Amino acid sequence: MTMTSKIPKTEAEWKKKLTLEQYRVLREKDTEKPFTGKYYKTSEPGVYKCAACGTKLFSSKSKFDSGTGWPSFSSPMPGSSVKTRPDDSSGVEKTEAVCAKCGSHLGHVFDDGPEPTGKRYCINSVALKLEKN
Ligand code: FE
Repeated sequence: MTMTSKIPKTEAEWKKKLTLEQYRVLREKDTEKPFTGKYYKTSEPGVYKCAACGTKLFSSKSKFDSGTGWPSFSSPMPGSSVKTRPDDSSGVEKTEAVCAKCGSHLGHVFDDGPEPTGKRYCINSVALKLEKN
């Protein structure tokens, strides 16, 4: 059995694999403009996967309309690769959401989400790929 990883290892490899917009968000932590992404209004059932590596991140069941113009989720899928870490790169203390499998930036997490988690995972559409049920 051969073990081959399809996850690029270098930034040059990521640049080849991703569109420029995807690269800027996923690898350079850019944020897409609100109300412009593919998924902020989407309510179709399915699983949102990482646009970079394809691992499962969020279920449509936890998606809600936050009115912010970005896809918003109250929690990641159980057992998913979504991890959080502190991010003070903007001068403001925030919590960054990343895909632990490929190390890509997804968005940020805020404490103004709906019950029961109270969390709002504010995720760039361009970081996601919806696999419809
Ligand atoms: Fe990933």
